[in-house]
Amino acid sequence: MILNGSGTLYVAIIGAGPAGYYTAEAFAAKHDNVHVDIIDRLPTPYGLIRAGVAPDHQSIKNVALRYAATNEKDNVHFIGNLELDRDVSIEELQQLYDVVILATGAPKDRALGLEGEQLQGVYGSGAFVGWYNSHPDYRDLNPNLKTPTAVIIGNGNVAIDVARILAKTAQEMAETDLAPYAASEIHTSILKDIYIIGRRGPVEAAFTPKELGELNKLENCIPLFDPALLEAFEENTDLTVVQKKNFAILRDIAANKPEKDKIRLHLSFFQRPLAIEGNQSLTNILLEKTKLMPNGVEGTGHTAELKCGLLVSCIGYKASPIEGIPYDTRSGVYVSSDGHISDNLYCVGWARRGPTGTIGTNRPDGVGIADKILSEITPSGKAGRQGLDALIQTRALHTVSFANWKKIETAEQEATEGNAPRRKFTNIDKMIKIAES
Ligand code: NAP
Repeated sequence: MILNGSGTLYVAIIGAGPAGYYTAEAFAAKHDNVHVDIIDRLPTPYGLIRAGVAPDHQSIKNVALRYAATNEKDNVHFIGNLELDRDVSIEELQQLYDVVILATGAPKDRALGLEGEQLQGVYGSGAFVGWYNSHPDYRDLNPNLKTPTAVIIGNGNVAIDVARILAKTAQEMAETDLAPYAASEIHTSILKDIYIIGRRGPVEAAFTPKELGELNKLENCIPLFDPALLEAFEENTDLTVVQKKNFAILRDIAANKPEKDKIRLHLSFFQRPLAIEGNQSLTNILLEKTKLMPNGVEGTGHTAELKCGLLVSCIGYKASPIEGIPYDTRSGVYVSSDGHISDNLYCVGWARRGPTGTIGTNRPDGVGIADKILSEITPSGKAGRQGLDALIQTRALHTVSFANWKKIETAEQEATEGNAPRRKFTNIDKMIKIAES
């Protein structure tokens, strides 16, 4: 490998989520002469594992143990509460480090592009999921759950997550890290109907069988599906394994009948939103029936109004544009050639390929970018961590080390009630105080 005997390669990874950690893991496994700093704007590591993965999917969150093990390596360090542009510029990092990698994910909600999207009661899934997952940015979202009807736009796993979290009872959520302020809103809501609305059909839906199947096992909620739509599966001789499994689950769901006092979860297809209406707050959504076309869907002109007080659009995410870094506004990712943006700047994960795949998809991504970088860049005597520490000191920044994050983690574990795994803090000043105690 090129690094042998040629000094230390200093790598800065921006973003301490799955893409960042798998990339760090790959570098650490490949050579001792690599020093990796994983930088995050929050005082807490793990990105989407902490604030994106559903609170009732704790087994998926266990992958954080693997990231923590990466952090125990001598040549991998977490630096929390250090924000690009606020505290340090990308140019400064490029000067200090041999390599800078953007693993910043896709934190911005895609917009539906409809009038009325700014109304109170209308949220993107990033914001809504962040709210119930204790993300400091969304602590004060205050979504309106005092409504009998919620509409969820999109047919991916995020749409299913949102519906399930809205529908589960306090008892079903007892062993989760659902934010307590969100729990008290959700579990006193007056929701009677939840609609998950797809613009294409059930065969084309992006959700996976495990997530779809969970909807049919809820204590206080009955999923409903029009049996006539099963025909599309029956007539299709080219179904994938996933589609066949979804078909079997939808066949079971199609046999369900509404039950008194249980929330009705309508799996609705071939409809797209045309307008979001209300005065200051959302009152209803105008939907148009669609038909499948070779490259998507087309409206049929048949419209219907649906009264609702909550609308969550779960239609995907975009990376955050950074001044000076080429950005593809259509796909919402940084412009790169296989992850190489320019000079010593690279990107990985959702920031490179968009919001697709599972958490595990980021592992080969991290290995791939580490291999590519090690074949393209050699150590060049940069200041690396020492240089960054000097800058942090000069600017009197309150960064958080991995050891100090562990103090926050312990305090969160101690703050729980019952069998909840942790009670996540949302106040950054409080977290810094604990970290520096
Ligand atoms: P997704 O899987 O890409 O689904 C997005 C959905 O939004 C699609 O049904 C899409 O329909 C629809 N859509 C897009 N634009 C729309 C518009 N303008 N109007 C109406 N509908 C629109 O995205 P996601 O659900 O956000 O999930 C992101 C990634 O995270 C996925 O890879 C997902 O599997 C993963 N994830 C996994 C889990 C899990 O494993 N438990 C949980 C959450 C998320 P079209 O297909 O017609 O474009």
